[in-house]
Amino acid sequence: HMKLIILGAPGSGKGTSATVIREKYSLAHISTGDLFRYNIKEQTKLGIEAKSYIDRGALVPDDVTIRMVADRLGNDDCKSGYILDGFPRTTAQAKALDELLAKTGDKIDAVIHVITDDDIIMDRVTTRRVCEKCGASFNVKYMPSKVEGVCDVCGGKTVMRSDDNPETVGKRLETYKENTRPLIDFYNARGIIVEGNNNVDSATCIKSIEDGLARLNLN
Ligand code: AMP
Repeated sequence: HMKLIILGAPGSGKGTSATVIREKYSLAHISTGDLFRYNIKEQTKLGIEAKSYIDRGALVPDDVTIRMVADRLGNDDCKSGYILDGFPRTTAQAKALDELLAKTGDKIDAVIHVITDDDIIMDRVTTRRVCEKCGASFNVKYMPSKVEGVCDVCGGKTVMRSDDNPETVGKRLETYKENTRPLIDFYNARGIIVEGNNNVDSATCIKSIEDGLARLNLN
């Protein structure tokens, strides 16, 4: 019943790695970005509030985000373990997560850090496509869907994310460095960081993540 976090810059490939890890270890995949995008599509109150921040490359306020995650972690599918993708992104979120888990005597077992250089991120993010319906991720240059514009998983339409333009990606990278990167030290102090380098390809990255999890006796 592993509880994992996957951390990495926007476009580092953490979503792709998370999908493989989730399948291998039968975990629930909780992506806060996907949850926000779903709410935006459904035009919920939460979605309408989140959109203004997301389109600017800023973070959605902590209280809104923490409430959404706390609610999601209460779902039955989380009982057999989960991987948190895109959360926490601030120290306040990390502390809130600790407190939430402590209520049930739980803790995070490992934090996966996906490392990718900024120039590679820029190139990959501007060619990324995501499925409108199920959130599956593709890349027109490096990981195309079998039929252009059509999701391999569910047949939905694949589109560019509205925040995947060079200007917003630049802002998201700054936001990451300022708010999220300090979390590496926060979790490193606990000795639970597992690294994967995604500069070459996701298979290499996933292999080192799996080796790292095994070193922590998680499998
Ligand atoms: P992602 O799909 O993980 O790249 O997230 C897309 C956008 O959703 C981010 O740029 C933020 O605006 C917002 N977002 C996702 N997760 C969080 C979070 N944990 N805290 C605040 N904002 C978030």
